[in-house]
Formats: sequence, C-alpha cells, structure tokens
Amino acid sequence: MTLQERDYAVIWHPFTHQKNRKPPMPIVKGQGTLLFDEAGNQYIDAISSWWVTIHGHGNRYIAERLYKQALTLEQVIFAGFTHEPAVSLAERLLPILPNNFSRIFYSDNGSTSTEVAIKMSLQYWWNEKALTVNGLPLTEGGDQRSTVNGQRTKLLAFKDAYHGDTFGAMSVSDRSVFTLAFHDKLFEVLFIDTPNETNIEELKELINNEGDAIAAFIYEPLVQGAGGMRMYEAQWMDELLKTVKAQDIICIADEVMTGFGRTGKLFASEYMTEKPDIICMSKGLTGGTMALGVTACTDRIYQAYLSDDKMKTFFHGHSFTANPLACTAALASMDLLLKEECLGKIQWISEENKLFATKLSTLHSRLSTKNIRVLGTIIAFEIDEGKDEYLNDIATSITQKALELGVYIRPLGNTVYIMPPYCITKEELEKVYETILMMID
Ligand SMILES: *Cc1c(COP(=O)(O)O)cnc(C)c1O
Repeated sequence: MTLQERDYAVIWHPFTHQKNRKPPMPIVKGQGTLLFDEAGNQYIDAISSWWVTIHGHGNRYIAERLYKQALTLEQVIFAGFTHEPAVSLAERLLPILPNNFSRIFYSDNGSTSTEVAIKMSLQYWWNEKALTVNGLPLTEGGDQRSTVNGQRTKLLAFKDAYHGDTFGAMSVSDRSVFTLAFHDKLFEVLFIDTPNETNIEELKELINNEGDAIAAFIYEPLVQGAGGMRMYEAQWMDELLKTVKAQDIICIADEVMTGFGRTGKLFASEYMTEKPDIICMSKGLTGGTMALGVTACTDRIYQAYLSDDKMKTFFHGHSFTANPLACTAALASMDLLLKEECLGKIQWISEENKLFATKLSTLHSRLSTKNIRVLGTIIAFEIDEGKDEYLNDIATSITQKALELGVYIRPLGNTVYIMPPYCITKEELEKVYETILMMID
C-alpha cells in the first residue's frame, strides 16, 4: 500500500471534510523553504506550514540543540520541578516582550495559550472579589464565590477573530460554520468591529458604557489571521486600547501568529503605544519545530494570585507544560531570530512585499484582485469572484494550481496570502510572486 492508501484507512485530518476527500500529499522531507514529496517534486512552503516554520525546515542548528537536550532531559513534571531550558527561555523572553511582563506560564500550543489567558484574566477578577472570612477562605459555598456582586465576568473580542479550537478559545472567536455545532455551549462574548476612522467613537462609547462589567479584551494585534488576514490600523487600535485600559479591562494580545517577527517587528503590539497585560505566543516560538505555548503576564495579574487563600491558586496545567525539548527549540530559534542576518531578512521580505503589492495593484482591474494589503512578511488580497466564503472551492483550485507550479499556498476562502519562512531566498520569493501572477491569469 502507498502512504496515501494507508493514511486513507486510519487517519482523520484536521479541518478536512472527510467524505470524498482528496488524498493528502505525502511529504518525505523538508529543507529550508522547500518541501519534497515522494516523487521528488519540490514545493516552496510559502505559508510556513500554517505560519509556524520561521527558519525553514530541517534547520540544523535547532536539530542539534534538540538532539543534545533529548539525551540530557527530554521531559519532567513541571509542578514542583524545574529545568534549565524553561528558566532560560523565560529569562530571554521577558526582556524582549512589548511591556513590563513579569511571569511566563507555559502550555503546549496556541489554543492553550489563549485558554490560559482567558482563565487567568477571569480568575483575576474572581480573586480580587473572592470572599474571605478573617483572611481565611470560605471552604464551603464555593459556588457563592462565583456570583459575587460586581465581579467582572464579560469578555470583549473582535468579530472575525480566531483564538483557537478549545472551548474558551472558540467562545472568543468568530461564530461561524466552524463553531456552529457548539454554539449553545460557548459563553457569551461582546463582539465588536475592528477599529477604524469611522467607527472609533461608537466603539469608545460602547466600551465606556459596558466597561465595568468586562473582565478582559482579547485581540489579534493588527492582523486577524484565520479570519481572512484582515488588517486594521495601529492608530485606531491605540485609541481603542486607551479607552479599554481606562476602564481597567485586562488586555490580552494574542500574538500566536503575529509574534516573532511576522509583522516586521518582533511583536505586533510594538506598533501601538498602549501595551497588553497578557500576551499569548506559540507558532513561531519554537521556529515551528515543537509544540509550545506561552502566556506572559504583568505583575498586576500575578499579584492577584499571591495570597494566603489557596483558593486563589491558578489551577491549570498540562502533562507537557514547559517540555524541555520544546523550550530548547524555542531558545535555539531565538538565537537565530535575533541575529542581524535574520532581522535583516524580515525587513527585506517586508520591502519586497510592498513592491509586489504596488505591482499587483497596478494590475488590479485586469487581475480582478482587490484589497491588497501588506504588514511585514504577510501579504494578502482577495480574488474577486462574487462571494466571500471560506468554504468556497476556489481555495482548493488555487492551491492545486500553485502546487503544479512548485509553490505551496493555502488560501482562506478567496483570500490569497503568503507568509514565507524568513530564510526564503531572492529567487524563491520571486518565484512565489510570479506563481501568484500566473495563477491569477
Ligand atoms: C493558530 C492560532 C491560534 C491557535 O493556535 P494552535 O496552536 O493552532 O492551537 C490562536 N490564535 C491565533 C491568532 C492563531 O493564529
């Protein structure tokens, strides 16, 4: 049996309609920006394998660090124990994050990093309002504590948001066909539009009215990824954040996609002067080699958990919390990312993207592309064909066509985007652009 046939018999793939599914492509090797299939064909991975592979595939430096760590300590329980990679990574992350963050909480993917942030901020308000008798916890009637008057319990999020697939993360994400089967199980969230010149005053008014009931505001800074690479401007986001912060609402920046250079800066939150209280990271964190999630918080959040009341403990963790291999991969990825060479490549891709966007827009009417936008290493536009549907078949045909030309892209509905590994060469990037032009034709 071929790999495809064996797969067909036993595997259930993510985000994949299973009936009449096309056989998945067997990939046997990855090197730099290239993926190789069984037949020896090569494809430029122009979306960094779902936005994670920032230094390319098969990176020798990361691989060697992983190998050494695997022989030293591959895993250990993280409650009551610690290890060098976890501590070193926290020490290296904290100073480069866009605010004065004081604590790193580990989990194991992007969804769990946002899930942790949601729980952390809800419990922050619960802890603040938690009833104690003479400084001692109420051991009975725990239920009463969750209905304390005046406790903030609402969450604020953007329409078209995507924060992951676990229940909390789904709740604060856009309600769509992807979450339809669970709508009655998702908690209530106040959804607002992303800010712009025309709606900013209205948004500020709404937040000023509802503010004292809102526990936290979760947002993807400047680019809504899975929602269709929708971009919005830092200027209006700053105004919105100012209002949100004035209402004492905890700000959670979901930088799972935007972190580690994607938007041209190390973190997209750097584009705003108003900074988050909690920041979520994953995807590029380990250079795309291992699953790891990080939720960082400021001291204000952490202090709410420092109490003699044991009920104020943050009861959350995963078997693979702070896995030493994953932390080591993140440390190695950070070495590579912070080198002049890599930071320079990020700027170079950003400049090339701008030039290509200009070129695309001059061909606009002929190519029926619209809404061409760039932020750092991300470029996105819609192929105009009537409907804006994620389930649209156009994505499949574009993917197929591009593959035939040696480039892997995976449009979100009719939204075509590229998000290449930073190690992409001049020739490869040109090939990606040319493929897009040919494909549109
Ligand atoms: C991908 C993504 C997530 C979910 O991360 P997973 O590792 O896939 O669970 C959350 N938030 C954003 C902004 C993402 O792009």
